[in-house]
Amino acid sequence: MDVDGVLTDGRLGLSERGDEVKFFNAHDGVAVALARRAGLKTAFVTGETSTVAKARGDKLGVDKVVLGARRKGDVVESLLTELGLPAEAAAYVGDDLLDIPALERVGLAIAVADAVPEVRAAAHMVTRAAGGGAAVREAVERILKAQGVWRATVHAYIREHGGSPERWR
Ligand SMILES: [Mg+2]
Repeated sequence: MDVDGVLTDGRLGLSERGDEVKFFNAHDGVAVALARRAGLKTAFVTGETSTVAKARGDKLGVDKVVLGARRKGDVVESLLTELGLPAEAAAYVGDDLLDIPALERVGLAIAVADAVPEVRAAAHMVTRAAGGGAAVREAVERILKAQGVWRATVHAYIREHGGSPERWR
């Protein structure tokens, strides 16, 4: 997935000192945890070189964070080679023009609701949520539901954190 405009609403906060601030959605953080628990590999592919994306990815345990990616299609291809996965086994979530080459190289191309028209046209699926509004949570839920493992994954996650999902349904 892309970072700015997908995991964030695309706005970039800059302090006088030049420090960058991005706002992430906690629901997407849980989505990454659920994806990992279900056996999906996750990666951030961003054109920016900001260390904020790296810090967020590391905190969430994202498998790979690629910064400064100007040719995202090439990055996605090498990630797939590295993981030994065919394009059909991969999904990519994007919002802007630089994401199109990456979207073209995966089996499931996903645009966030407020992606630019060209990206929405290149996608198989458009999320209901906008970037930064838990669009990645929605994408992960759709994928895990399609795989038939959503419920089991959520229950395992709740159990892992001390809950008893069998009691609520
Ligand atoms: Mg973006």
